[in-house]
Amino acid sequence: MNLSIVIPLLNEEASLEELFSRINHVCQSNDLTYEIWFVDDGSTDLSWNIIENLKVQYPQIRAIKFSRNYGKSQALHAAFERANGEVVITMDADLQDFPEEIPELYQMIVEDNYDIVSGWKKKRFDNVMTKNVPSKLFNAAARKVSGVYLHDFNCGLKAYKKQVVKSIDVYGDMHRYIPVLAANAGFRRITEKEVQHQARPYGSSKFGTERFIRGFLDLVTLWFVSRFGGRPMHFFGAVGTLMFIVGFLSALWLGISKLIDVSKGIYGHLITNNPWFYIALTMMIMGTLLFVAGFLGEMIIRTNREHKNYNIDEII
Ligand code: UDP
Ligand code: MG
Repeated sequence: MNLSIVIPLLNEEASLEELFSRINHVCQSNDLTYEIWFVDDGSTDLSWNIIENLKVQYPQIRAIKFSRNYGKSQALHAAFERANGEVVITMDADLQDFPEEIPELYQMIVEDNYDIVSGWKKKRFDNVMTKNVPSKLFNAAARKVSGVYLHDFNCGLKAYKKQVVKSIDVYGDMHRYIPVLAANAGFRRITEKEVQHQARPYGSSKFGTERFIRGFLDLVTLWFVSRFGGRPMHFFGAVGTLMFIVGFLSALWLGISKLIDVSKGIYGHLITNNPWFYIALTMMIMGTLLFVAGFLGEMIIRTNREHKNYNIDEII
């Protein structure tokens, strides 16, 4: 099978039929064999009924229904696990993305041998203040932190080699950063393609402006996990040890200068009157805590035997 098309959806009853018929048409006229994975992420409207009806006529439809709303990342993950196509394409269900882009995305993966082709909504049709401007900042930060040079991380329309979606673990709200997850897993042939975009014809957006705050926190997590996730001691241990040593040397110095004073017969200077005493104390305590945090991190990694540290390209 050439293609698995993965479509997460939450209350998108109005667009599903048109979406399916456009996908079906474009795939058939380009001789692409395909399956569609609809993932109903806890819709409360008629979305699931519409999918069931379509399924009766079109066996190339597969669908998963979540018992409640788990989120877009979980929806993608559930379909990624089950996808059979050689190329996996994700798209939103709201018709903001154009199914007509599918053949070209497919070509780029198969012929130009890219691991990921990410859509770039160069000309965007969303609200300027609540989406376009914050999203520019957000993408700039993501580029800087991840070293993956895409203009539009969060575009719903993306194409992947099958192996990519099988190797990454999309959890939490990480659907925004799939290219970064993939790059961290060793898939480096990532590019983007300008895609068409239109305003939402039906329904309303499922994400508010809180997406940017969450997005930034996830970015920090991602950066941190990719750098130190496999070896927490290198961060916590190093910072902790350093703090402890500075604290300990300060305390030592306080003690020695006290002894010198005493040997000279000066008794008035109490160590506890010196601000350095408190600084030294705090640094020793915090240093120890950080060290212990790093140590516990290492222990957790050691216990978690399922932890997959590497993807192998080839063994000869
Ligand atoms: N979606 C989902 N689960 C959610 C939120 C959204 O499956 O919890 C789907 C939604 O139905 C749509 C896609 O994810 O197909 C993108 O959502 P939306 O269009 O609301 O995002 P935006 O285009 O505003 O970024
Ligand atoms: Mg949308």
